[in-house]
Amino acid sequence: MVLDAPGTPLRAAEIAKPQPAAGELLVEVAACGICRTDLHVVDGELREPKLPLVPGHQIVGRVAAAGRRFEAGERVGVPWLGWTCGECRFCRSGRENLCDRARFTGYQRDGGFAEAAVADERFCFPIPEEYPDLQAAPLLCAGLIGHRALRMAGEAERLGLYGFGASAHIVCQVALHEGRRVFAFTRADDDAAQGFARELGAEWAGDALGPPPEELDAAIVFAPVGELVPAALRAVAKGGTVVCAGIHMSDLPSMPYELLWGERSLRSVANLTRADGEEFMAMAPRVPVRTEVESFPLKEANQALDRLRAGEVRGAAVLLL
Ligand SMILES: [Zn+2]
Ligand SMILES: [Zn+2]
Repeated sequence: MVLDAPGTPLRAAEIAKPQPAAGELLVEVAACGICRTDLHVVDGELREPKLPLVPGHQIVGRVAAAGRRFEAGERVGVPWLGWTCGECRFCRSGRENLCDRARFTGYQRDGGFAEAAVADERFCFPIPEEYPDLQAAPLLCAGLIGHRALRMAGEAERLGLYGFGASAHIVCQVALHEGRRVFAFTRADDDAAQGFARELGAEWAGDALGPPPEELDAAIVFAPVGELVPAALRAVAKGGTVVCAGIHMSDLPSMPYELLWGERSLRSVANLTRADGEEFMAMAPRVPVRTEVESFPLKEANQALDRLRAGEVRGAAVLLL
């Protein structure tokens, strides 16, 4: 499924099988998760994608021919971080997620909305065997970014999750496993998302713009809605942190300084490092994280994107090849 221009639907196309360069794997795609970032790319909110582009950066597949790290037939995951320079000040200080020259899967490199993909094997992960292909796919971005965002939230006991989609449904499980209390904030009338959050163990679910039932120690904002940032700052106690986990968000409204005062912090989380991936892939089966997925055949990628855009997906949307 190919993006020819931002703002247009993906087009089903027969394209040449990608050829792996030195250090790359040819991966036969089994499943590919759909992330909100894919929507931002398709809708043109992320600038200058490779065009034409095969989107998709939560790839689960099998290695077609052995590389250095992986055997032929081995199952691998290909995440958003597709390549880094290894030389810039960020790469050299354990912050490859911020690499000046990073290349991202399904954005600057072709991704997994296809039968085959190539990936730099240094950036691929083994997939824990407990997870079938479909259920593994959302771990690769929803899970990884959620994990990084939760680390940035620190030791917070009372955790607010703003937007209860693919990432939040995973973070909720990890947070409860760590003994935290989870509060889910959604659109006021989104009974489905609120019910889903309660089923997963959130002790409260309600209107994101209303007051929380009690003060929070941290909040993670997954929904790409700038208006939620002052709402989340208002909900956290002194010393609390608000983490923005999305790559794109509508503009933040002007707000009084007192919302930040009291040593509250506001920060974003960008991309992932390979260390995040290894840590999370080891942790997920121990929790155990159970991903809830809605699957679509590859040719229905546009319908799947539409459902995600409309907030109708319960858990994560995944294309099954
Ligand atoms: Zn770099
Ligand atoms: Zn993503």
